[in-house]
Amino acid sequence: MVTNVYSRLASNSMVKKGVDFIKADHEKTIVEQKQICEIPAPPFKEQIRAADYQKRLAALGLKNVQMDKEGNVFGFRPGAGKGPKLLVAAHLDTVFPEGMNTKVKEKDGKLYAPGIADDTRGLAELLSIVRAFNDTGIKTMGDIMFCGNVGEEGLGDLRGVKALFREHKDIDGFISIDGERPNGITYLATGSHRYEITYKGPGGHSFNAFGRPSAIHALGRAIARTAELKTPQDPKTTFTVGVISGGTSVNAIAAEATMQMDMRSNGEKELLELEAKFLEIVKTAAAEENARWGSDKITVDIKLVGVRPAGIQSEDAVIVQAACASSTALGQKPNLRGPQSTDANVPISLGIPAVALSRGGKAENSHSPSESFDPTDAYMGPQRIFLMILGLAGVEGINEPLLPKGK
Ligand SMILES: [Zn+2]
Repeated sequence: MVTNVYSRLASNSMVKKGVDFIKADHEKTIVEQKQICEIPAPPFKEQIRAADYQKRLAALGLKNVQMDKEGNVFGFRPGAGKGPKLLVAAHLDTVFPEGMNTKVKEKDGKLYAPGIADDTRGLAELLSIVRAFNDTGIKTMGDIMFCGNVGEEGLGDLRGVKALFREHKDIDGFISIDGERPNGITYLATGSHRYEITYKGPGGHSFNAFGRPSAIHALGRAIARTAELKTPQDPKTTFTVGVISGGTSVNAIAAEATMQMDMRSNGEKELLELEAKFLEIVKTAAAEENARWGSDKITVDIKLVGVRPAGIQSEDAVIVQAACASSTALGQKPNLRGPQSTDANVPISLGIPAVALSRGGKAENSHSPSESFDPTDAYMGPQRIFLMILGLAGVEGINEPLLPKGK
């Protein structure tokens, strides 16, 4: 059924016009991609890029264009009514700090700049898709909400998409334009919990104050126990102490020691079980270090610094089938990917159909200052997403929405 819908859509003349429009819009999309890339957007500092993107959304005639309290910018393309509400988003933030030079350089047909692909390309594709709707005048049944969201990267912790789903309980489906594997479709969500654990104690001279408990020794006990944890292979569940710091001098009992711990799982239950064990270990280590010296001076601060929920959808879910069928209808080979951590984690964990679809073009060295983008045939990315949207939201006279409408 889903396949039929997409082959019917792909052969419709109005839809073809939209698909052709996106190809013809390639140069303009590249120009915008370069412009947006040169507006820096470090984590938690997306405001300038967001304000610029808001203007671009408004200029395209979307309705009710606004910035929410979290910093997301979005606008609506209302449907004919009674259809589902579909959110289509690309993320505004990059991993790069303030002061990074994001001026785009071109060499041998490739574009070079930090963030040129991830996710500036997604932002540019989204605008091209809106232009294709404007050019064709295609009226969907459902409403489409187009959004540039904040907080996808690192300690942004998906705060943008979390806010969107908190404030808009009527969203029935979600497409994130993100990812660089050719024709990639991400529909499984790896969850993560991250902690910063800090042991504190009295400190003192290594010789004169010997007998006092040590924050570093407590941390060592915690890491040794953590290293022995066992986790399931399926769903894949992992952990690592990624960063440690502490102490001030070789001849001082450490007064402070810190570690950062990353735990991930494709199953929410397994993630929570691992977390519970880890938190137990952290407290036990403090108690053991105190007991070793007959003290009560070592304390532990437990700070949760990241939560990304996990979740699973069936390969047969309509939204996954729609992503595959829209690829196939355009002669692209769908590429179902293993679980990832993307903006789609949030709706997937809430049971709302969601995928992250790769951008067009070819990206290299993402998240590094030498990030590059090869724009050859990059229009195939937004073409696929444009078609995907039509099937999900439904088009009057062609197909009913594939996406079920909730409340
Ligand atoms: Zn990204």
